[in-house]
Amino acid sequence: MPRYVYDFHEGNRDQKELLGGKGANLAEMTNLGLPVPPGFTITTEACRAYLAHGAEPAGLRAEVDAHLAALERRMGRTLGQSDDPLLVSVRSGAKHSMPGMMETVLNVGLNDVSVAGLAAQAGDARFAWDSYRRLLQMFGRTVLGVDAEHFEHALDELIRSRGVGGDTELSAADLQELVATFQAIVREHTGRDFPQDPREQLDLAVRAVFTSWTADRAVRYRRQERIPDDLGTAVNVVAMVFGNLGPDSGTGVAFTRDPASGQSGIYGDYLPNAQGEDVVAGIRNTLSLTELERLDKACYDELLTVMNRLETHYRDLCDIEFTIERGRLWILQTRVGKRTAGAAFRIACQLVDEGLIDLPEALRRVTGHQLAQLMFPKFDERAARAAAAAPADAATQLLSRGVGASPGAAVGVAVFDSAAAVARAAAGQDVILVRRETSPDDLDGMIAARGVLTSRGGKTSHAAVVARGMGTTCVCGAESLEVDAVARTLRTSDGIVVGEGDVLSIDGTTGEVFTGAIPVAASPVVQYFEGTLDADAPQADDLVRAVHRLITFADAVSALHVRANADTAEDAVRARRFGARGIGLCRTEHMFLGERRRHIERLVIAEDEAAQQESLAALLPLQRADFEQILAAMDGLPVTVRLLDPPLHEFLPDLTELSVRVAVAEITGEVDEPDRRMLEAVRRLHERNPMLGLRGVRLGLVVPGLFVMQIRAIAEAAAARILAGGDPHVEIMIPLVGSVQELELVRADGERAIAEVAGRYGMAIDHLIGTMVELPRAALVAGELAASAEFFSFGTNDLTQMTWGFSRDDAEAAFFSLYLEKGIFGVSPFESLDVAGVGRLVRLAAAEGRQARPGLKLGVCGEHAADPDSVHFFHAAGLDYVSCSPFRVPVARLEAGRAALLAPQIEESVDAGLTRADVEAVV
Ligand code: ADP
Ligand code: MG
Ligand code: MG
Repeated sequence: MPRYVYDFHEGNRDQKELLGGKGANLAEMTNLGLPVPPGFTITTEACRAYLAHGAEPAGLRAEVDAHLAALERRMGRTLGQSDDPLLVSVRSGAKHSMPGMMETVLNVGLNDVSVAGLAAQAGDARFAWDSYRRLLQMFGRTVLGVDAEHFEHALDELIRSRGVGGDTELSAADLQELVATFQAIVREHTGRDFPQDPREQLDLAVRAVFTSWTADRAVRYRRQERIPDDLGTAVNVVAMVFGNLGPDSGTGVAFTRDPASGQSGIYGDYLPNAQGEDVVAGIRNTLSLTELERLDKACYDELLTVMNRLETHYRDLCDIEFTIERGRLWILQTRVGKRTAGAAFRIACQLVDEGLIDLPEALRRVTGHQLAQLMFPKFDERAARAAAAAPADAATQLLSRGVGASPGAAVGVAVFDSAAAVARAAAGQDVILVRRETSPDDLDGMIAARGVLTSRGGKTSHAAVVARGMGTTCVCGAESLEVDAVARTLRTSDGIVVGEGDVLSIDGTTGEVFTGAIPVAASPVVQYFEGTLDADAPQADDLVRAVHRLITFADAVSALHVRANADTAEDAVRARRFGARGIGLCRTEHMFLGERRRHIERLVIAEDEAAQQESLAALLPLQRADFEQILAAMDGLPVTVRLLDPPLHEFLPDLTELSVRVAVAEITGEVDEPDRRMLEAVRRLHERNPMLGLRGVRLGLVVPGLFVMQIRAIAEAAAARILAGGDPHVEIMIPLVGSVQELELVRADGERAIAEVAGRYGMAIDHLIGTMVELPRAALVAGELAASAEFFSFGTNDLTQMTWGFSRDDAEAAFFSLYLEKGIFGVSPFESLDVAGVGRLVRLAAAEGRQARPGLKLGVCGEHAADPDSVHFFHAAGLDYVSCSPFRVPVARLEAGRAALLAPQIEESVDAGLTRADVEAVV
């Protein structure tokens, strides 16, 4: 039979799964010998059993009996003992902390009799009645579900009728009266009396904690943060200590470093003569810890010793809750503290300098997500804080706080429908599209907008999914805002109205929504990557230095290289500055647009070889110049050029338009011969499903000479570079291959062309010819393909579309938010690689490809290449490189380094049956 209860001295910090975060850390501190009040933890397993069967599991009661008895023996009194009551707090604590869980109930064990015992023991009647009224208030609200307002109202009434300034000025008699009022409130709203039996109080509170796991807010939060629904929460029962026993008592919180900047020091707040939540509730002004030093030097010194001890033990920033009871310090909670992305980098490096952790550990502790946050444009911090503190009539002020659904900082004028967004954007205005929630009809507006703001929905709503897919800043679920699409206004609960054309600023990281324009500050981290800020320069701050240090180390340890997707010399130059070790995908599509388009048109309608050759000959020098520039920018590094890929119709005139023109011309008898021939060609090539039609290698085979022309241009560009003293390394990539025969045909022509160029120039041209793997069939016959391919590059965007059988644009707009909502996807397969499905094809193709051709070069060029989870997968799958957009190269570099450090640990634990997310939460 499972054990459901553990004393604090029986657990440790690695048992978060079983004991919850709070319980595991209380146990750890107890075993470190820190002054933690004694107590025990009821496990998450008990909670799961309760939720599954609707009743406490057999054996739980007996175990609680035994642990309570032990606690009572230790404290020398029993729960609620009438002359000297043992009191406890009942505290929820799951593996992940989350909102919506039951709030802590303090002072459990007090009743009409023991309140007198407590008064006598403490020699303070006021204290005893204050503690009792707090129990009634908290228990009434959180366990019995009475609306908190009834209690607050009664308290306010009393304070008013006594003409005092606050609750601390109420007398013992006042509080005794309040207790009676509170008991009446409980009776009125629950139809029963407040339970006088201390054990019944305890049992009801424990059960309420279990049930709070399924509270709406908690469920919503878990869905949003992708925390599994079946973990359950633990319950901690802790002997009470009292911060409200007079001026030599108090309660506070402390951080071992500043969680915003990472600066080492003493940070925290202290509130004399107060209990529990009073510090954070902000009902009275708190003191700084320096003031505590003046008030109680001994406790202050001890607190510092504890903080030091915790930081060296956890080797990280800790936050701590403490209480002083009549000059005696108690520690009530600690955890590795949350921090900003910037502080994470700073702290990791500080801890290295202090000798607490080594550089590999520092790298493990920062994430690509954090680095990405540091690279997004941000609102000027001071301006944003000033706006947040501004009075209600200020032009720039904080309007609301929603869910930060897609990061970035966007400023623009408010528009309330898609058409207005498109119209104003076309007129050159930056717009913020404001909707209650978005639907597929809003797509054009979302594309046109700088930012999207909704009043409904969370991180998986339509707006969030589509905006993230497009990289557009988005704040969702700003529930305090009322959006009226008909009146074209947005109204706050304070009555502030924002109309169409008024300026808004939205922060997709914090979820903040402001009126007016908040200035956007350049990211120093981006300046560092751009090369305009040197990490060693005096004006570089410790954040830039920390990023520099960790990313340099990541490069040194990573096995997976990072390349960039770049189609122009300009992008290539930038990619190189951002640390790309080559180009993994150079698309050639845009090289055929604009002026050059007519050459392609002519190529398609050419009726004889001479006409065809003429078009190709016109294109060749243009292409050669394109490639020469890119090879120059990436001199010495590999450049993968993908031959022309998109559906042919993208280069041809619109069918309807052309049909009308020809029809009209026929009537007037002025038929233009080229037009007529073009129409024939367009009709012939018209496709119902262009995505599944004449694309990639198919196009290369249907339009003779096209791919050879491209390959010749690449070879000639390489030759020109060599003549100029350069060092080009070209990798020619054939797209959308499904069978080795396709590849062989293109390859034979290509090799001939390269040999011809090399012969003409009398030089060797370093080159590889390989293929994209983006069709499931390509992955399935990878062994055959490898006979003819010198490298594979997984095009994971198309591979995902083709494996799932949906087109990204259509699917994201139509049903992705429903799929996320229903849990069919944990995360969009376009954001993070679908490891079970698409990932399996990648593993299979990698293994069979390398079996057929040892040393086969393997890369990835989809958007997954910079997704942290996916990078870890690609590393584990043994790929050589990932290739992502230039701006995301640093994130991929950091994660490639982390993958090298974390991979062995992850693999082992995955074997042990844990999920990846579990493992990453631990490491
Ligand atoms: P949360 O998870 O919301 O921080 P806690 O369980 O930590 O909730 O408790 C809320 C407040 O009550 C905290 O300030 C905590 O320090 C205080 N508290 C909890 N248990 C006790 C106790 N046994 N004695 C005194 N104060 C306590
Ligand atoms: Mg707490
Ligand atoms: Mg593709």
